[in-house]
Order: sequence, then structure tokens, then C-alpha cells
Amino acid sequence: MRKIIRGRNGQRKITLLLTLMILLTLLLAETMIVCAQSESAVAQSGSAAEPSEILTVGVPTDRCPIFYRDPENGEISGIGVDLMVTAAEKAGYRAEFREITEKSLKAALDNESYDVVMPFGSALTSESGKPSIVTDNLMQTPFTLVTKGRQDMPPLNKLHVGMLKSLAAGAETVNKLYPGIEITLYGTMDECVKALRDGKVDALLHNSYVWSYVLQKPSYSDLMVQPSAMFSMDFRIGTTNTPAGREKVARLNRGIVLLDYNRRQAVILDYTSRRLYRYDLGDYLYQYGLLLFLSGLALVFLIVIAIQRQRAMKREQEEKMRKMVDYDQLTGVLSLTGFRKKAEELIRAHPDIAYMISYNNIKDFKYINESFGKQAGDELLRFWADRSMERLSEEEAIGRLEGDHFAVLRRVNGMENMRGDEKDVFELVRDFFIAKGKDNRVLICSGIYVLTPEDYYHIDVDQMLDYARVAERKVRDSGKDGYAFYNQDQWERGKRMADIVGHLTTAIRDGEIRVWYQPQVDYKEKKITGAEALCRWEHNKLGWLSPGEFIPILEESGGVYELNSFVWETVCQDLARWNEEGKHFSVSVNMSRSDIQSNPGLPEFFANLTRTYRLSPDQLRIEITETAYVEDPAILIEMTKKLRSYGFKVEMDDFGSGYSSLHMLKEVPVDRIKLDLMFLSGRGDPKKGRVIVSHMIRMIRSLGMDMIAEGVETAEQADFLCERGCPEMQGYYYAKPLPADAFEKMLNGETECSGL
Ligand code: C2E
Ligand code: MG
Ligand code: MG
Repeated sequence: MRKIIRGRNGQRKITLLLTLMILLTLLLAETMIVCAQSESAVAQSGSAAEPSEILTVGVPTDRCPIFYRDPENGEISGIGVDLMVTAAEKAGYRAEFREITEKSLKAALDNESYDVVMPFGSALTSESGKPSIVTDNLMQTPFTLVTKGRQDMPPLNKLHVGMLKSLAAGAETVNKLYPGIEITLYGTMDECVKALRDGKVDALLHNSYVWSYVLQKPSYSDLMVQPSAMFSMDFRIGTTNTPAGREKVARLNRGIVLLDYNRRQAVILDYTSRRLYRYDLGDYLYQYGLLLFLSGLALVFLIVIAIQRQRAMKREQEEKMRKMVDYDQLTGVLSLTGFRKKAEELIRAHPDIAYMISYNNIKDFKYINESFGKQAGDELLRFWADRSMERLSEEEAIGRLEGDHFAVLRRVNGMENMRGDEKDVFELVRDFFIAKGKDNRVLICSGIYVLTPEDYYHIDVDQMLDYARVAERKVRDSGKDGYAFYNQDQWERGKRMADIVGHLTTAIRDGEIRVWYQPQVDYKEKKITGAEALCRWEHNKLGWLSPGEFIPILEESGGVYELNSFVWETVCQDLARWNEEGKHFSVSVNMSRSDIQSNPGLPEFFANLTRTYRLSPDQLRIEITETAYVEDPAILIEMTKKLRSYGFKVEMDDFGSGYSSLHMLKEVPVDRIKLDLMFLSGRGDPKKGRVIVSHMIRMIRSLGMDMIAEGVETAEQADFLCERGCPEMQGYYYAKPLPADAFEKMLNGETECSGL
């Protein structure tokens, strides 16, 4: 049995080997003890004490599996406990175990609260010098040397061994048994092992049972049991050598003798074969350190992967969001935001490229949607985007800004790019429906802004788009399709328009807009018969504005109704005041075509006004320009009829200055024609002009309509008109438009009206 069992792999083998060795030792020792004690035991068996008598036994608890605290129930257990319980029982005691808190067994002997103390190899003197007495041997405990690595062991009495301090009593016994042995005591097993590993001691000595427990510690796997160096020590119960002590020892001896051999073996086997050793954190770390490290590493790896994946997903999400924001979902080209960014990026990155930005718009796209369906409209936009993208290089960009509005950042490249785009993009888009067999040509208006050197220093894509849009608007306003380049004047005009449209409401509120009156006179009667209300605007920023400028702008932007309703109401207020003063006459007010779109219930609106200001309806003469009748006859005629049915007078303004369509006169049911004399002073032969006017007057008269001539500037004109049958007149010859108070003064005769 010189075989040395080593290592973690041999852990179970060590336990088995130790158990076998223990059994062999026991077999020998027990045979002898049993033989020696059997006779006296038989003789004394009749004197067993009452089992109810308590015997307090002081034991250490750091010697698993001989004495230890069961972690399950906290009770002191072990081989020593079980054997002692049986021996005590047979001796008539009920053994109760208490943990020795003293530093050594010798000190514990002095503690009278223990009836007995164990384990002792032989009788010792207590710490205070009291002699002790011990029982017969309760069992033979095998002692084994443990070394680090394989060693040829010298005899025991030549060794330097390490032992636990708590085994001091045992050490004394060993010293007696093996004189010459050097023993160093250490506080803990870890200290013992460290001393062995550091070469401070040759081996460690301890109870084999305890080794079977201790060596289960994974970090002690380098320690080896030296079976050849095994010897056995007695395991006795001790107390002070007093009469009471002696009495207890005697009784216990009687119990010990009755301890059955098989019972002893069963107890030892039971404890030595149990896996009593519990791993602490350090053990787990030692045992599974690598595994834990690898698992930790794997976990960290997984976490890193998970974080990276999370980040990738976030990036993906952000990318998706960015795409949604930067790209147009319908066509796949950039959105307005995306175009802004991309264009800025490209212009910054390529200051050497001459760029232009175009703003492109399909004319009447909403009609396309209405006529062919939204899907066809979408297809057209996609087609346009696809064709355009095919032609763009990486230094160029296209974006859909909204609806049917596309912006393109394009190299100027002479006219080559434009010619190519015209052929490969615009022509195809124009023929989109025709190619599908439908009779509709798509019209595209484009405005182009060529970047100036300044634009490369202060990149403002929005501003450039605005410029291009201004040019596009010029094309659109012309009523044609095609393209136009931006110029500075357009931009200034655009800004002025914005100042007019955006400031209207405030201007009305702040009194910047006023109603002036231009007298209308009767040539023959030489008196003022009425007036035309004409508005004037003293703009807080732009100064005096002519209605010839702001009226068309407001008509287009949809703001003219707001202005006109203000004018109409002001006129009604003034008329009411003049009525009260006994001056009863009519005032002509201008109405725009877009007023009808803004308020189809205009006749009711006027009726309300005249009711509110207690005017008779014929005091309001509503002027509708001749051009409006020509462009939108049905609606205008309908409106005229309705207005007249309410008692209002309707006049056709500017007759003769526009696209006069004489046959309109028979269809349009107006009360009075306003003959515009401007063309008389215009180009051409004045003689012929006079002939035309003469015939017009005669024709209007023959049709039974009233008329008034406007734009009368001279006495000759006035004389001529009257002579031809048109005595009612309005013009600078008589008076220019006047503020209300000045007009009032003229009415009252306080100021003169020239020509009268
Ligand atoms: P309109 O309705 O034909 O008004 C006559 C315009 O001719 C006025 O110009 C008037 O000042 C001008 N005028 C009158 N007599 C003479 C003359 O002897 N010689 C010359 N050269 N011009 C004369 P104004 O006030 O600048 O108005 C221009 C146009 O603006 C008006 O033409 C009218 O269409 C529009 N307008 C003016 N006020 C309003 C308004 O309150 N509402 C609407 N919708 N349009 C208005
Ligand atoms: Mg007018
Ligand atoms: Mg007019």
C-alpha cells in the first residue's frame, strides 16, 4: 500500500483508501480492546445508571467528521458524538454536548461546567495544574501524515510536523510516543497547509478521519496522504482527577466496554462515507474558477454582443427614421429636409462645380388627380423621379418638396444638361398620359437659379429654392409651361408681394387703408351725381401703394375679399352719414371675380349691409370689370342677376379697355356700362378712336343701357362725350379721387369741382 493517491481526480479514491485504512486499523485495535474489556464489562453490566442523568460533555467542533456542528440543525454531531452517546447511555447517562470555547482541552479541564471533556489520547494536567483522569479507549483513531507531493518519508521521530493548536493535547501524546519529533502548532488548517507548502514543516499530522474530510477541499488537492506513516491514537474521555471525576470515569468505562464493535464500525463508516464537506465561496472559485472565468468571459462576450446588437438595432432604427425624414416615401427621392441637407453637403464639398437649382412644378396637378385618379398622379410623380434620377450623377441631387414640386441640384455644364433633361425627362413626363393613349399633355413649369460665388460661402439652400420658385412662378403666371431663370427683380417683387399679402390684416386694423372717393358728374346738369370708391394704402414699410399694384396681388393670393368687404362696409358707413345729412346719392364699389369664390352669398351680404346702415339698395353700384364677364360669363351673369334682384345696380367696369366682346352686351344684364376712355388717349389714330367711341355710345344707348365715361381728362373729351350722348362722366378733368372729408367738402360746395 505504498501507492500515493493524488490530486483532485483522486479525491474519491483518497476517501475510499482512508476508509479502508481506518477499517483495518480499527479491526486490529478493536479486537484487542474488546478482548480486554469484555470480562469486566460482563461483571459490571448490572450497575447501569438511570439514562435520565445528564452528562455534560465538552467537545471541540472543528474536527469534522469527529466533532462538528451539523449545518442543517446546528447540533453538535460526529463520530465522537455518536459513540459517546451510546457509551454514556450504556453507563446510564444522557450525554449533552457543549462546544469547548476554551483555547485548549487543558483549559477546558478547568471549566467545571463540563462534566467531562474529550477527546484525550492520555491523561494530562489541566491548564491550572490539576491532574486529570481519562476513560478507557472509546475508539482507536488513526493518525496520518499528509505531505505536499510524493516524498520518501523518514521515520516519525525525525520529522518536523505541523499540527493544529486545538490538537495540542494530542501533540503532547505524539511527542511522548515519538520522542525526537518536532511539532509546530498552527491556529488554522490553512496556516498548517501554508507552512507545509512553504517548506517550514515536513508534513502535517492529523486524525485520518479529519483528513478524509479536510482533503475534500479543492485547493488542497496537491496534498498527499502518506499511508505508510500511519499510526493510531487513543480516543478517550477525560475529567479532573476528583472523586466525582473518578466515579464518572468508572461508570463511563462500564459503558465503553459495552460498546458493540459493529456499532463502532457502522458509526465510523457512516460519517467517513458522507460528503460532509461543504464548499465555501473560495472552494467554488478554486474548483470552478476556470469554468466560472470562462462562463464569465462568455457572459461578457454575450453581453457585449447583445449591447452591440442593441446598438446596431438602434442605429438601424435611427437610419430608418432618418430615411423616413430624409426620403420621400412615394418616389424614393429626397424629401425637403433630405434635399436641404444633401444640397448643402454637395455645394460645400464641390465649390469647383457650377451648380444650378431648379424648382419644377406640374401645372394643374390637382386636375390630373381628379381626372385620372390619385394613383395615376402618383405614377406620374414616380415616373418623373425615376427618369430624373437616372440622369443625375453623385454630385447632384433631387428632392420632392411637396405634392408635385421637385427640386434638382444640377451641374450647369453649359446647356448640355438642360437639353438632355428636356429630352430624356421633361418630354417623357409631358407625354406620360399620351403614351398611355390618353389625350392629356402634362405641363411643367420650371424655375432655375444659377448659384453665384457668394452662394458657396454662405450656403442657404432655402434661399436658393426661393429664388428658383420665384422664376417658376413667373412661368406659371405667364400661363405657359417651360422654364425661366431667376433674376433679382423677380426676387424683389416677390418680397414686395409678401409684404403686401402678409400685412393686409394689420394694415386694415391700423387704418393704413382708407377709402377715397372720385366724383361722378352730370355734364349737362353740372353737378356731382355720385362717386366711385377707390382704396388707398399707406403701407407702414413700403409707403403709398397704388391699387393697380396691390389689388392684382391680393386677387391672386385670395386676400382681396378681406380688403373689399372692409371697403364696402366703410362706404356704407359714409353713405349712412351722408344720408343723415340729406345728401342722398349712389357710390360705385369695385368687386373682384375672386370675391364670388370667397363668398358666394355676396348678394345677401350686401343686403345685410344696406339693411344695417339703412341705405336703399340702389345706393350701391357694384362694378364688375368687363374682363371678368368675358372670362367667367356664366357665374358672373348669375351673380349680376341676383344682385339686381336685391335692388342693387350693377355696372360693367372698364368697358372698351379689355377684350371687349360686343356680343356680351346682349347677354349681360347690367344697369350701366362704364366706358373706359383710356384707349382714346392710347396709341393709334385719335380720330378713329373718337369714331369708335361714338359708335359705342350709340350702340349702348340703342341697347337701352345707361352709361358713364371714366378717365375723362380734358374739356374736349367731356364736350365730345356729351355731344355724342354720354353726359355722365368721371375723371381727372373733374376731380381726382379724394379722401372722404375732402370729397364731403366738394359735395357741400366748400371746394370747387373743376369743369362744373
Ligand atoms: P377702376 O375701377 O377702373 O378705377 C378707376 C381708376 O382710374 C382709378 O385708379 C382712378 O384713380 C383712375 N382714374 C380716374 N380718372 C382718371 C383719369 O382721368 N385719368 C387717369 N389716368 N386715371 C383715372 P386707381 O384708384 O389707381 O384704381 C385702379 C384700379 O384698382 C381700379 O380701376 C380698380 O379696378 C382697382 N381698385 C381700386 N380700388 C379698389 C377696391 O377697393 N376694390 C377693388 N376690387 N378694386 C379696386
Ligand atoms: Mg372701377
Ligand atoms: Mg374702371
